[in-house]
Amino acid sequence: MTYDCVVVGGGPAGATAATDLARAGRSVLLLDRAGRIKPCGGAIPPRLIRDFAIPDHLIVGRAVSARMIAPSNRAVDMPVDPSGAGGYVGMVDRASFDEWLRARAMLAGAERRTGVFDRIVRDADGGALVCYTEVRGGAEVRVRARCVLGADGARSRVASDALEDAERVPCVYAYHEIVRSPPGAAFDRSRCDVFYQAALSPDFYAWIFPHGDTVSVGVGSANKGFGLREATARLRARTGLDACETLRCEGAPIPLRPLRRWDNGRDVLVTGDAAGVVAPASGEGIYYAMVAGRDAAAAVGAFLASGNPKALRQARRSFMRSHGLVFRILGMMQYFWYGNDRRRERFVAMCADRDVQQLTWHAYMNKRLIYARPLAYCRIFLKDMRHLMQTAT
Ligand SMILES: Cc1cc2nc3c(=O)[nH]c(=O)nc-3n(C[C@H](O)[C@H](O)[C@H](O)COP(=O)(O)OP(=O)(O)OC[C@H]3O[C@@H](n4cnc5c(N)ncnc54)[C@H](O)[C@@H]3O)c2cc1C
Repeated sequence: MTYDCVVVGGGPAGATAATDLARAGRSVLLLDRAGRIKPCGGAIPPRLIRDFAIPDHLIVGRAVSARMIAPSNRAVDMPVDPSGAGGYVGMVDRASFDEWLRARAMLAGAERRTGVFDRIVRDADGGALVCYTEVRGGAEVRVRARCVLGADGARSRVASDALEDAERVPCVYAYHEIVRSPPGAAFDRSRCDVFYQAALSPDFYAWIFPHGDTVSVGVGSANKGFGLREATARLRARTGLDACETLRCEGAPIPLRPLRRWDNGRDVLVTGDAAGVVAPASGEGIYYAMVAGRDAAAAVGAFLASGNPKALRQARRSFMRSHGLVFRILGMMQYFWYGNDRRRERFVAMCADRDVQQLTWHAYMNKRLIYARPLAYCRIFLKDMRHLMQTAT
């Protein structure tokens, strides 16, 4: 049998693309490695919950504020919804969230197989044969595909197999520990803490994200020599979380720049982390992976219908049109504000500003910049400039 599309990777990007393609009547094989839970803080915006019809039972925690902690330990609280209208950041556990997304793809008609993608070879007519193994060291299985969609995450094997320069994407290395939530009222299960301190991360941030009965405590840094485990241990000791039972310790790279090309000009396309679509500065990738997966499914559908490989380019174009500007702004923010502790101190001070809080949350929750409030942007720009001047002197 020749599948219309073999999707490699059953995370948010791959499962979303497989669902959309199957719903459109395409024959889809969803290939996913067995048994690994994606290391992830699990914070998702309401826009994702709405647009991708995520059921309530998958939301294991609801954060209603974020506490930003500066190098001096000054803490600034940013309530998600000061009006009290009930806005929140959703928290998901990736074990159940990803599995539910894969099950939805199957319900839509995708065939699911467990195996590790190895490479793509060509038959005599130039058609793609996807090679994978079901168990480590086992026999190679080959399936024929009109199109291959690589959604196999950061450091994607499909991308390095089919695209030039895929391995040069800059990454932040993120590590976290899942611990049991402390009992009682001393621990606030409705607040995310974000630490901007060189001792915890020289170029990114550290976090404590509550997930109901568990907590994700972690650190990210692009500096390969920086001790992520040691920094996490320091953070746990400082916050009393060292006394809590450790359930899992895990890490993974977070790509921070979209690849220049997502397709091979023939029949292979990549999406999600495999295409590098994680927001700089925040490391938010679940929403963008699902949007990119949806864009990829539309592009694959157009390619299958027309036979024209140029249709695959539409996936990147569509994604960058919607999110390219935000990624550029966040990239500049990360470069400047995370540069040293003096700047981080100013950055946290800025977060106390009401305009900053309102526009930041609005952009995060709805994934849209509010062009209707030009005066607020002007005020933020002027305040930003004032902080920049103070930082420079
Ligand atoms: C520590 C950490 C914390 C994070 N916290 C957040 C957060 O709070 N909020 C947020 O929005 N984002 C967060 N992110 C980013 C987010 O996890 C990713 O951007 C998102 O998971 C990308 O989805 P994806 O489907 O593209 O890739 P992935 O989720 O990585 O899925 C890839 C899938 O491919 C499979 N796979 C890989 N290789 C193969 C192979 N060779 N053969 C077959 N299958 C394969 C994997 O098993 C996996 O199922 C965090 C990342 C890290 C590392």
